[in-house]
Parts: sequence; C-alpha cells; structure tokens
Amino acid sequence: MIDKNIFLLGATGSIGTQVLEVIRGKDFCLKSVACGKNINKLEEIILEFHPEYVSVLYKDDAEMLQKKYPNIIFGYGDKGLEAAATYKEKEKGTVINAVVGLKGLMPTIKAIKLNRDILLANKETLVVGGRIINDLLKKHTSKLIPVDSEHNAIARLIDGYNKDDIKKIIITASGGAFLNKTREELSDVSVCDALNHPNWQMGSKITIDSATMVNKGLEVIEAYYLFGLDIDKIETIIHPESIIHGMVEFNDHSVKSLMYKPSMVNPIEYAIYGKEINGVFENELDFSLLEKLTFKKMDYQRFPMIKLAYDVIKKGGILPLVYNASNEASVELFLKGKIKFLDIERIITKYVNKYFNYELENELTIDEIIKLDSLIKDNIINEVIKK
Ligand code: NDP
Ligand code: MG
Repeated sequence: MIDKNIFLLGATGSIGTQVLEVIRGKDFCLKSVACGKNINKLEEIILEFHPEYVSVLYKDDAEMLQKKYPNIIFGYGDKGLEAAATYKEKEKGTVINAVVGLKGLMPTIKAIKLNRDILLANKETLVVGGRIINDLLKKHTSKLIPVDSEHNAIARLIDGYNKDDIKKIIITASGGAFLNKTREELSDVSVCDALNHPNWQMGSKITIDSATMVNKGLEVIEAYYLFGLDIDKIETIIHPESIIHGMVEFNDHSVKSLMYKPSMVNPIEYAIYGKEINGVFENELDFSLLEKLTFKKMDYQRFPMIKLAYDVIKKGGILPLVYNASNEASVELFLKGKIKFLDIERIITKYVNKYFNYELENELTIDEIIKLDSLIKDNIINEVIKK
C-alpha cells in the first residue's frame, strides 16, 4: 500500500479521474494536483479534495485561480508541473504520474530524487528516459509501479520469480479502432473514426496511438526498461476482447495470465493497494457471459509501427526518443486535422530513418533529451504547416 500523501499529475485526464474515483472517501491526502487547460474539472477537484498546491498550464489561469482560492498555492507551466511532484520536499508521499507525453519525464526524475514512490501511467517517460530512470532508481529508495494495464499485469505475474525463470512475456493488444480494416481502407479514416476505440475510454492521444498501434510499440519499449528482459523475450499478440492484459511463459512452458474486464480501475487499485486490493464489485468478470477469448498473431505488415519499435530498441541510442517525439508531434497534427491518419506512420518512419545511423558519443543528458525532443517536434510541425 502506498503512502497516504498523494501528488497527482494529470488529475483532470482519463487516468487522473479514475485515480480520484479509487481514492475518493478513503484515507488519503491529495497534497497537490497538476493539469493543463481543463479548469472546470480542476475546480471540481479543488472543491472536493482540497489540495494545497495546484499547477495549470497557463499563467493567466493560475492568476485567476489564485484570486479565487487564496489558501491554495498555484503554479503553472513546466515548472509548476515539477513543483506539484516535489511539493513539500521533506514529506514522504507517492507521485501518481498520469500526464500525457514527454512532459512527464522531468517530474518523475525529480520525484525519484526525493525518494518518493511513483505510480507511472505516463509511458512516454520510460520510453525516452528508461535508462536514466533505471539508474536513478538504483540510487534512491523510490519504487516505480506501472499503471499501464499490460505492465501492471505482468509485474503482478512475475512477482516472486527470478528473471531466469521467464521464457517470455506477452503483451496483449486489442487492435484499436481499425483492427479489421485493410491498409488501403486506412487512407481516408477520420479523426472521429480513430477516436472510436471499441474497448477503452481513454485520452485522445493514447486512443490514436492504439489505432496506429504505436501504443503497443511504446509498450514494448516500456516493458524492456521495466522488466530488464532481453527484447526477444517480449512479445505482442492481438486479443480483441481485452480480457487478458498480460501473460508470462515460464521455462517449463506453463503460462500465467491476468484477466479482468477492460477498465483501468483494477490496475490503478492494485498500484495503490498492492495485495490488499479490494476490487470494485461492478468489475466482476462473469465467465458465463464471455462467449470466447480470441488471439491472432501480430502482423508486422499490417502494423508496421510495432516492428519499427523493435528495430528502435535494438538499435538504441536516441531512437526511442525519435520514435516518441515524431509520434507525439504527428498525433497532435492529426488531431488538429492537419495530416491524414497514415501520415502519422509516414512521419515516424521518416524521422526514425533519418536518425537511424546517428552515433552517440555519450548518452544524452536530461537537458539534451528535452532539447532534441523539442527540435524534432518543431521540425515536424513546421514542415507540415509550411506546406
Ligand atoms: P488524458 O489526455 O485523458 O489526460 C492527460 C492529463 O495530462 C490531463 O489531466 C491534462 O490536463 C494533463 N496535461 C496535458 N498536458 C499537460 C501539461 N503540459 N502540463 C500539465 N498537465 C498536462 O490522457 P490519459 O489519462 O488517457 O493518459 C495519461 C497517460 O497515461 C498517457 O501517457 C497514456 O499513454 C497513459 N495511459 C493511459 C491509459 C488510459 O486508459 N487512459 C491506459 C494506459 C496508459 P487537461 O486535460 O486539463 O488539459
Ligand atoms: Mg496499455
């Protein structure tokens, strides 16, 4: 079970809202929250949970809110987000990182340096900063608990085993909004179509990532850093029902899997309570109503972004950063109607190829990571806007 003091980043989002559902009425103290632009939802959170520190994206919003709630300390922008993770430095606590995008990296690093535990939904942090995060975790007492459902499931399944016992881990993929479309049929899909995920209600960026299957690519890289397994021991499989969230095959070929109805409440509850998890009644899995569980081998021709993720992690260096940055920029452009769906893949592939043979003299520092991430995103956005 985590510490009672909670610092919640991304409080107004899909994961943030479900975290608040889980802790509502329980013996936790929401010390700080951070969000972006959704001030209406933020005010509901302020009135219900009374955080001491609040960060928003824009200075104007912070100033307006400061006048309205003089007893709360407000911050804004990147510094505000970091301050929400490090608020009351000397106090113990748990940072729940449910912010979207690489913005989640710095606050995670700062929280680990304070020896705070991290419940991590923000997969971009590990994809880009996996090596740095793992090095820091060795030097500090923080525990990092994955919230992403597949990783949360696998962490539960391998608990108590040695790495040597594991033959492979298998990450399931629902297939997103376009599982049954051919590549030709993808050329004219709309933003609305892509946001229509069959099983999960999530934020818009991850829903598009599910449709392109970049989400699964990011999850392969996330698993690589989380579990320290050889990349060849990390597999993905299509499982459209999203009932099995992760599987582990042991050396004797026995396989363990973790099942629950597609809902993030279960992994969030487990991340918070560990083995003392109670479970939400409505989430009970009724096998008599489940007609079947189906699986399909991952097709790299149909979903080239997964194959690319394997290439990226095998080559290493700055490529996970390039894969992530080009994805974040192109998803933003797609959501704004500036590019087509298949342009997302095209742009990611172009940028990964561009940097493929780039040799690093030294590992990038955190500042260099943030700079290169911005450079790639700006280049992509400028290229598209100029056209
Ligand atoms: P949402 O888009 O629903 O929420 C994102 C949150 O981050 C919002 O609170 C948003 O604020 C906030 N935010 C965005 N930009 C900034 C910024 N610059 N500074 C501060 N806060 C910011 O995303 P999800 O909840 O769906 O996903 C969050 C993370 O969890 C992602 O990394 C995703 O991949 C991962 N994840 C999500 C799952 C899900 O089921 N949703 C499942 C597994 C992983 P606001 O809305 O106020 O602008
Ligand atoms: Mg997932």
